[in-house]
Amino acid sequence: MNKAFYLETFGCQMNVVDSERIVDLLEGIGYAQVDAAEKADLVLLNTCSVRDKAERKVYGHLGRFKPIKDQRPELIIGVGGCVAQQEGEKMLEKIPYLDLVFGTHNVHRLPELVQQVEAKRQRGSATEFLDRETRLNLFPQRSVRDNITRFVTVMQGCDNFCSYCIVPQVRGREVSRPSAEIVTEIESLVAQGVREVTLLGQNVNSYGSKDESEISFAQLLRRINAIEGLERLRFATSHPKDMTDELIDCFGELEKLCKHIHLPVQSGSDRILKLMNRGYSSADYLRKVARLQQVCPEIRLTTDIIVGFPGEAEADFQATLELVKQVRYADAFTFLYSPRSGTAAAELSDDQSSMQKQQRFERLLALQNRIGEETWQADLHKVLPVLVEGESKQGEGQMFGRTTWNRIINFTAGTDLIGTIVPVKIIKVFRNSNLGERV
Ligand code: SF4
Repeated sequence: MNKAFYLETFGCQMNVVDSERIVDLLEGIGYAQVDAAEKADLVLLNTCSVRDKAERKVYGHLGRFKPIKDQRPELIIGVGGCVAQQEGEKMLEKIPYLDLVFGTHNVHRLPELVQQVEAKRQRGSATEFLDRETRLNLFPQRSVRDNITRFVTVMQGCDNFCSYCIVPQVRGREVSRPSAEIVTEIESLVAQGVREVTLLGQNVNSYGSKDESEISFAQLLRRINAIEGLERLRFATSHPKDMTDELIDCFGELEKLCKHIHLPVQSGSDRILKLMNRGYSSADYLRKVARLQQVCPEIRLTTDIIVGFPGEAEADFQATLELVKQVRYADAFTFLYSPRSGTAAAELSDDQSSMQKQQRFERLLALQNRIGEETWQADLHKVLPVLVEGESKQGEGQMFGRTTWNRIINFTAGTDLIGTIVPVKIIKVFRNSNLGERV
C-alpha cells in the first residue's frame, strides 16, 4: 500500500513550481498525495518569507500538526521553502516534533531526507546554497498532469537587493538556465497538450544578462514564439530597469506574447525609489510604459505598490497616486510596508504613524479600484478570444479560461473545448472575473 503525504504551499509561483517537483519526487519513492494531514504519513509545509512575521506564522502553523504526531509518533513532519532557508537547522532545535528542514536549493534532497527519517528516525536538514553549475543541473522539470497552462522556470535567484526584500538572501544569486534546454522543455510540454507557458524567474527579464554566452530575454521569447502548437506566452516577474527596447518591441511583434505585463513600480516617488534601491526613476518607468503602449496599444499593465515605506511623506505618496492615475493599471497588488529582518530597509528610521499609513493605503486602494473597474467594465459586450483551461468551479457545465490580459472568464460550454481558443462575449463584469457566453 502507498504511503501518503500532505503538502501545503504558501507564497509565489516559484513555490508552486517547487511543490510540483516535491510531488514528483515523493511519488518516486512510493508516496501518494492526500488532502488532509490526518490521513498522511508525511506532512510538509512549503513556506514563504515575504510576508510580515513569516517565521512566527510557520511555527504557529506547525503547531496544528502536533496533536496528530502525539497520537501517531511515526508521522514525519517537514518544512521547506524560504522560511526553512532562512531559519535552517535551528528550526529542529526549536520544534522537537519537526523531522526535516530543506531549503530552496535542496528540494532534490527531499527523498533522501525522508528515507533517512523512515529508516533510522534520524532528523535532518539541508539548507546550504549550491554553486552555479549544480543549480543549472537541478532546474525543476516536472511531469505534466492534464495542464493547458504551465510555469517554466527560466532563471532563479536575484542580484538586485531591493532594500525591503528578503529574496536574494533566501533564493540566492541569479542564475539563468541554458536557452536550448528551455526551448526543448517547452516543445515537450506542447507535445503533451500544453498550450500556454509562463516563463518564471524572480527577475525574469534579467535572463541571460549575466552570461555573455547566453541569448537575451527578448531573443528567448522569439525562439519560444516560433514553437509550433504553442498558443500563448507570458512571463513574470519583470523588473522595470531590465525592460530593454528590444524586449518592449516583442509586444508589438510576437503574436503569441500576451498583451499583459506585470511591472512592479513600488512607488511613484524618486526619493523613495532610491531608498528602495530600485534602480530607476518614475520618469524612466513612465517612459517605458509609454513605449509599451506605443508598440502595443491594447496592452494592460498590473503592478505592485508598497505604501508606508520608512520616511514616506505625503508628497511621496501623492507622487504614487499621480503615477497610478497616469498609467491606469488594470490591477495592482498593494501592500502596507512591514520590515523584514536581514534587509537594509529594516534599519531605516520611520517617522510616519501607522494610522497615516493605513489611511494612505485606503486612498490608494480606492483610486486603483475605480481605475480597475473602469478598465474591466469597458470590456462589457465585447467578444474576446479565451483560451479554455478547464471546468469552472462556478457550476456544472461551466468552463473557465483567460483572455490575453489574464482575466478569468466563466462561460457555459462543453469539455471538448479545453485547450482551444474560442470567441466569448462578455455579459457580466465582476471584481475578479467575468461571465461570458460563447458566440
Ligand atoms: S527584484 Fe527586488 S523585489 Fe524582486 S526579488 Fe529581487 S530584490 Fe526582491
